[in-house]
Amino acid sequence: MMTFRSKAFEIAQGRVSPVLTPPAEKVADLYGSNTFSDDVMRTLLSAEAYTKISNAIRSGSTIDREVADEVSAAMKSWAISKGATHYTHWFQPLTGTTAEKHDSFFDLTIDGKAVEKFKGSALVQQEPDASSFPSGGLRATFEARGYTGWDPSSPAFLMDNGAGGKTLCIPSVFISYTGEALDYKAPLLRSLVMLDKAATAVCQFFNRDVDKVTPTLGIEQEYFLVDKALYYARPDLLMAGRTVFGHSPARGQQLDDHYFGSISPRVNAFMVDFEFEALKLGIPVRTRHNEVAPGQFECAPTFEEINLAIDHNALLMDLMQKVGDKHNFQVLFHEKPFAGINGSGKHNNWSLSTDTGINLLAPTSKPKENLRFLTFLMNVVKAVHDHADLLRASISSAGNEHRLGANEAPPSIVSVFLGKDLTAMLEELVSKGEITLEKGENFYYKLGITRIPHLQRDNTDRNRTSPFCFTGNKFEYRAVGSSQNSASPMIVLNTIVAAQLMEFRKEMDERLAAGEEKKVATVEILKRYFTESKNILFEGNGYSEEWIELAKKRGLSNISATYEALHAYISDKTVHVFERMGILSSRELHARYEIELENYIKKLQIESRVIGDLALNHIVSTVVKYQFKLAQTARSLTDLEMLEEAEPIKEIIKDISSHVVIIKRLVHEMTESRKTANSMEDLLEKAKFYGSEVKGYFENIRYHVDKLELLIDDEDWPLAKYREMLFLE
Ligand code: ADP
Ligand code: MG
Repeated sequence: MMTFRSKAFEIAQGRVSPVLTPPAEKVADLYGSNTFSDDVMRTLLSAEAYTKISNAIRSGSTIDREVADEVSAAMKSWAISKGATHYTHWFQPLTGTTAEKHDSFFDLTIDGKAVEKFKGSALVQQEPDASSFPSGGLRATFEARGYTGWDPSSPAFLMDNGAGGKTLCIPSVFISYTGEALDYKAPLLRSLVMLDKAATAVCQFFNRDVDKVTPTLGIEQEYFLVDKALYYARPDLLMAGRTVFGHSPARGQQLDDHYFGSISPRVNAFMVDFEFEALKLGIPVRTRHNEVAPGQFECAPTFEEINLAIDHNALLMDLMQKVGDKHNFQVLFHEKPFAGINGSGKHNNWSLSTDTGINLLAPTSKPKENLRFLTFLMNVVKAVHDHADLLRASISSAGNEHRLGANEAPPSIVSVFLGKDLTAMLEELVSKGEITLEKGENFYYKLGITRIPHLQRDNTDRNRTSPFCFTGNKFEYRAVGSSQNSASPMIVLNTIVAAQLMEFRKEMDERLAAGEEKKVATVEILKRYFTESKNILFEGNGYSEEWIELAKKRGLSNISATYEALHAYISDKTVHVFERMGILSSRELHARYEIELENYIKKLQIESRVIGDLALNHIVSTVVKYQFKLAQTARSLTDLEMLEEAEPIKEIIKDISSHVVIIKRLVHEMTESRKTANSMEDLLEKAKFYGSEVKGYFENIRYHVDKLELLIDDEDWPLAKYREMLFLE
């Protein structure tokens, strides 16, 4: 008899790599062809409307009604000419996925004539039925309305629905009736305004011509690919996004042979396909390679302005899933789909860039510019030092909880890596005693500010074990989870850096008013920042036990439980800085905190149910049948008076039984503890109970199931095995 699993495996093995016909156009011509881009606007809009919308995009000024009407008309004709039938506001609610509600351009006039309609008002604002999105209590039922509002700074795009039709998607924010943020984009945009203000003010000390500073972001996205047939043969992947059982294969990632190995033709076809689709949507995908674990891959785009980069990552994830369907692949974005091998992250490469083309985190060969570089560098370090717990909270989730601190993943301790030379240089600066002004460049030479090493650019000098590392001209936040919306950590980073830069500017102004020299004042403040933030700097192996010990001695937090980590969202310190910067109110922060706790509870609840269901209905039931076969064999041997030969079989039966008994007991206990958790009123108590008590059973049950996997005849085992899922051909 064929099991579901063996059928699935046969299907997966039989797949042939599709023959791709690459698009006729050059990549450069293809790029952005499905976006309502600047070029398209320039062609379709009147000069006046084009200028107004360009200004709105650049400076965030509001768009008046006439311009909105003109833009919507242009969007409509552009979209319809490219085959679109519907439009939607595309937004990023706090569920972690993207949301859309399609409306048809098609409408009827009063006298029944068919027309295609899309007015400025529909472009600017919509009211989706929002009651199903999480609001953390921000929307009481009597004011259950939520609004989406057009974000002109992210171009509208055309999404192919597969079956021929296309939809015009308009990137939007999502807010409540009373104006509170219900999504990721609204606070992100707020944080950009504040960061621009703060960073531009600091830039004035160095470059008076800077009018605007924008964060840039390049997101490296890690993911696993599993054949669809095998995916469907794993109810846990289907329901929870990760395997709750599964014995490690004889060969895992020990050999490190997957990393940068050649990409199999089937996987390559998938990559090429989604990259073409991504390029059409204006997503500048550039790098693709295998990751360390078997079955694991990464793609990375060229960095962009942060709001675009985040929209593009959300869109890319969506696209990968859609194109994956076509190639019979399931893309796994879960942070830890397989136990015992690497999990997946989403490395956020972040920097600050001016409208005059300067990367503020790039050292140069000019001494004066390097004081500016050190100023921005140290302000970021100080901000991360002061708000490390909040940064940790911003990447906390049930999925990432499985990953952080597990093999080859950043620990739960937030530390910053600057590189040996840069650290040594800063140490030296601090030890220099009182700084006095020297004429001209001599000032910089005396302080050693000239010799800023470029070395970290080199891959080999990189510390891959640091959660937050400086990589030559940007910081890389590596602890971000692969399934997460990057906005969550980036809102935090922008906000704390903005607040910190404002502090810096304030102190500078005070010192200058007191007659201190600008360069001297700058260096004095940076020296102090370095001393105050030093305990967060770490150059060694972040994955080692020694670091955990050392971090403890330094008094750094090491919070592994999500429900505890999330608390930083509502600490006085956070509320203070977020309210002062106008990013999120105390009420909005509390709402986010509650939503995250709820998400955590829901995820664990699903995992726990899947574990119980699989253990009893798939594993134990199969195992009992197998035992019966063994028992028959043993009886036949006994009947033949081959008692000695029957003995080992009886042993196996007993062995299996002992695991079955324990599994049944543990599942029962876990179910009871889930019931207790579900009856709890207090959200935090409930999350805590789920995270400690209920989750406490997971590994234990897994241990016994994985033992059974080794005892049962391979042919009878019901779940696709790790070796079948991970070694894609
Ligand atoms: P490098 O080897 O120079 O660090 P990578 O290709 O490893 O470059 O870069 C990783 C990611 O960092 C890419 O997505 C890249 O676009 C991004 N990145 C490079 N420079 C910047 C920057 N100034 N700001 C933000 N991201 C950047
Ligand atoms: Mg990487």
